[in-house]
Amino acid sequence: MSYICVNCEKAVILDVAATNAPEGTDIPENQAPNPSQQEFLQLRDELIQEFKEFLPNFHKYKPETHTICESCLHNIMKDIEKDINLEESKINSMAQDNKRLDEDIKKTEQKLEHGKINEAVESKLRQDLNSVIAKEQEQKNELEELGKLQISCETTEQTYWEETLTFESKLFLLNERKNSVNRQIKEIQNEIDRLNRINILNDIIHITADHEVAKVNDLQLGKKFNAGTVNWGETNAALGQLVLLFAILEFKCPGMKYEKIRLKPQGSFSEVIRFTHDREERYELVGPPKDELRFNFGLFTLLEAMTQIHHYLSSKLAQQIQGGPYDFQHKIIGENIGGLPFRYHSSKLDKWTEVLKYFAINCKNLIYYFSLYQINRQKNLE
Ligand SMILES: [Zn+2]
Repeated sequence: MSYICVNCEKAVILDVAATNAPEGTDIPENQAPNPSQQEFLQLRDELIQEFKEFLPNFHKYKPETHTICESCLHNIMKDIEKDINLEESKINSMAQDNKRLDEDIKKTEQKLEHGKINEAVESKLRQDLNSVIAKEQEQKNELEELGKLQISCETTEQTYWEETLTFESKLFLLNERKNSVNRQIKEIQNEIDRLNRINILNDIIHITADHEVAKVNDLQLGKKFNAGTVNWGETNAALGQLVLLFAILEFKCPGMKYEKIRLKPQGSFSEVIRFTHDREERYELVGPPKDELRFNFGLFTLLEAMTQIHHYLSSKLAQQIQGGPYDFQHKIIGENIGGLPFRYHSSKLDKWTEVLKYFAINCKNLIYYFSLYQINRQKNLE
């Protein structure tokens, strides 16, 4: 049985080696191929089918008559090999491309991961920054508070210094006033001492005003600076002594009569009586006053008596000596003595004590003027 090569169309002699036939023997005509040859043909058939694209005459192929010769098969295999190599190199190239792509992907992934890390880092940084900003704000607030506190402290300090300064200037003024008062007292006292031999009034009503509180026969008038309140026991008694002084002056001065005023010296319970029209008003000079208004009316009445006796003495002296003016140390204008109201107020005890001192000094003036008047009167009588 002969076959034709589907490629080169040459007759194909079946290889003996591929058969079980003994060497050198042809396959006889019209004889069916033996199993080995059949296997051979089947294998070739499979190959032809497989490589049909490489066989231009494949359409002529019939397995009963055609096969492929060894040479053509070899050539085809060579071509296929080439193709395979080509494909392989393509595959390799693709693989390389893939590898590069993979690497790129990996790199991208890494970058993405890095980006994530960066994001995390950035987020952390942002948190830190926010925290820092918050802390800064906190510190700013704290600074602001401190600033306010400092301003407050400075204000307090300034107030303190201002108060200290005010206090010091007050103290200075007080000292000045005290020194001035001391000089006045000394002058008057010297004069009185000179007249003491013939005038005993100064001994009977002895007034001192060289301390913070004026005293009448050693009884204090008003409140000591450090004391909580007025020493009323002594003040009432001292006021009584002054009422007595005015009463003595009225009694000793010829023709002197207080106008619309009567004095009732009764020690610590002395009174002054004021006549208005047909009515008389009685004021007790006793403290602490139950009625400040009434107590002050009593004080004003005493002040009025002072003005009246002063008017009497100064006019007499002006006649006797033609000197003067025989003024008070502390001028009386209305209800004020030396610019201070002769008014008791439970919340202004230091002020009241101060004005009582002025009043006491004026009393000392009166004693002096009275002594002077008496001397000149005696002289004139002699
Ligand atoms: Zn062939």
